[in-house]
Amino acid sequence: MPTLNDIRSTFLSYFEKQGHEVVPSSPLVPRNDPTLMFANSGMVQFKNLFTGVEHRDYTRATTAQKCVRAGGKHNDLDNVGYTARHHTFFEMLGNFSFGDYFKSQAIPYAWELVTKELDIPKDRLLVTVYHTDDEAVELWKKTGVPEDRILRIDTMDNFWMMGSTGPCGPCSEIFFDHGDKYWGGPPGTPEEDGDRFVEIWNLVFMQFEQFEDGTRRELDAQSIDTGMGIERVAALLQGTNDNYATDLIRALIEASADATSTDPDGPGKTHHRVIADHLRSTSFLIADGVMPSNDGRGYVLRRIMRRAMRHAHLLGAQDPLMHRLVPSLVRQMGAAYPELHRAQALIEETLKLEETRFKQTLDRGLKLLDDELTGLPEGTKLPGESAFKLYDTYGFPLDLTQDALRERGREVDTAGFDSAMAEQKAKARAAWSGSGESADLAIWFDIAEAHGATDFLGYDTETAEGQM
Ligand code: ATP
Ligand code: MG
Ligand code: MG
Ligand code: MG
Repeated sequence: MPTLNDIRSTFLSYFEKQGHEVVPSSPLVPRNDPTLMFANSGMVQFKNLFTGVEHRDYTRATTAQKCVRAGGKHNDLDNVGYTARHHTFFEMLGNFSFGDYFKSQAIPYAWELVTKELDIPKDRLLVTVYHTDDEAVELWKKTGVPEDRILRIDTMDNFWMMGSTGPCGPCSEIFFDHGDKYWGGPPGTPEEDGDRFVEIWNLVFMQFEQFEDGTRRELDAQSIDTGMGIERVAALLQGTNDNYATDLIRALIEASADATSTDPDGPGKTHHRVIADHLRSTSFLIADGVMPSNDGRGYVLRRIMRRAMRHAHLLGAQDPLMHRLVPSLVRQMGAAYPELHRAQALIEETLKLEETRFKQTLDRGLKLLDDELTGLPEGTKLPGESAFKLYDTYGFPLDLTQDALRERGREVDTAGFDSAMAEQKAKARAAWSGSGESADLAIWFDIAEAHGATDFLGYDTETAEGQM
């Protein structure tokens, strides 16, 4: 049974044999793109090659890219622990052509890799194309995919755009059918969100350039950008539909179970899954230089850390837990990502310090939350002021409170939370107004409200974020 590390090597060496440069993953913090919070697809580091702004001495590349999707347009944080196929941190395998080959080569490469190198049975695979992309349909047929396994999709799931203008084009996605013991329907049906038909690989054909007036022309240099989720492929090759049951993530779940003397598959199952996932995203973010803070990227990191810590608390962990799991992660992933080795001590210290500090307020905050809930009639939302108090006094990010309530089938009155927040900001602004700097401060607060304190990290902007 191939391990996750085997699959990474198979993918990279297949494309290396096809003349692709093996390029290392870029850091999670994009170097040249302040508008993007974290690298969330393989194409991020190549954006300037696709737009022709930059040239390198290769026109074909292949990567295993570290990705974080916990904020902004692609936010999978709330899926973690609940779907079998989403992580906040995952690796995306990709092959890229910068004005070199196009669809007629990208399609047979993908099919050969999936059916020969990885040996996935053809009768379990489906492909989708954008509804008007007859060329892709013909190429898939020529490559050996029966027509009834090619689905035409007319939504933006199968059309990619870098922004409101610039490169864009149809996508074609490969899905694996885990069989009728799982709930879910094929892509394009109302049941597509189930865990039966799982998207494993997205091929983006950068075919057009889009202009401001909405018109398009064919690009001179047509390009390819693909992304395959390594954990999803590991799952199907290891005979499961659950990414969390694959070798690497399972090892982290077992480390969490050992450290808490609990059953990995018992009532704390969801907690272990969340902890294993969040261990990866927090450790990789710290290794790439992000530190917990109250704004921007650092706040996303803090939110993920605190969320993991609540799950550790629910497992009954009395002492800080996360830092004790780092050696297990380094064992699993340190060979492929040496930055984990280099940063191991920093990761452990940061996790331990954050958890030690947060523990003091976590217990009291959870107690308060319990008290609030006991008095609350069934079906009522938690008042916004309570959620705000948890945020303001106990350091509970809103999503942590929401995560805690989800287990009990409750929600937060988010509008009430927002107005409590706005009220506090207005008070803070008023308190400052005598300082003589009020005009500047008013501007600062407006920016802080819109963007999160001092960082202009508008991570929800319409910039290139790779696959969709
Ligand atoms: P989905 O529809 O399942 O959320 P997506 O369409 O958002 O996936 P893409 O943006 O096309 O995903 O990314 C390319 C590939 O990366 C996907 O085909 C999938 O295999 C993988 N992938 C995407 N998001 C995640 C995630 N949160 N965790 C693990 N793998 C992912
Ligand atoms: Mg998605
Ligand atoms: Mg999708
Ligand atoms: Mg996709």
